[in-house]
Amino acid sequence: QHIRLGISACLLGGKVRFDGGHKRSVYCSNELARYFQFVPVCPEMAIGLGAPRPSIRQVQFAEQIRIQNVKGELDVTDELQRYCQQKVATLDFLSGYILCAKSPTCGMERVTVYKAGTNNGSKSGVGVLAAALQQQWPQLPIEEEGRLNDLHIRENFFTRVYAYHDWQML
Ligand code: SF4
Repeated sequence: QHIRLGISACLLGGKVRFDGGHKRSVYCSNELARYFQFVPVCPEMAIGLGAPRPSIRQVQFAEQIRIQNVKGELDVTDELQRYCQQKVATLDFLSGYILCAKSPTCGMERVTVYKAGTNNGSKSGVGVLAAALQQQWPQLPIEEEGRLNDLHIRENFFTRVYAYHDWQML
């Protein structure tokens, strides 16, 4: 039985990005797909934004971070959070998750959070899906695809994936 990993759908070549393109990872698609069963998820498509779509970003207001398009007239915070929380609750069978970096939805760390009404931001955010994963499955190994180029990070990630899978099988 294959170990199952969640993955940002754009990393497997799905044309689900805001610009109608993908972020196909040769490493994931050609190498890892031989050893793991991938479960692709694109929350932005799942809530009906379609592709292409206006790009969305995290915006810091006084009390909270909202997820909006650049002009601010489209706000998908509530739908996106609701979808991600409900979706990750169904993913108890996963042994790890590979995320697309920088995305306001999928990014694991250093996601840009813009100050409301400006084009300035700090790389202090966590994607909505990544945050939901960390909250509901705090032990689940998650990693960004780009970071898997680092041998040390890669070995560490898959060691945790196998350990987590062994624990699930107990
Ligand atoms: Fe969809 Fe996540 Fe890829 Fe964005 S980063 S296109 S939300 S799968």
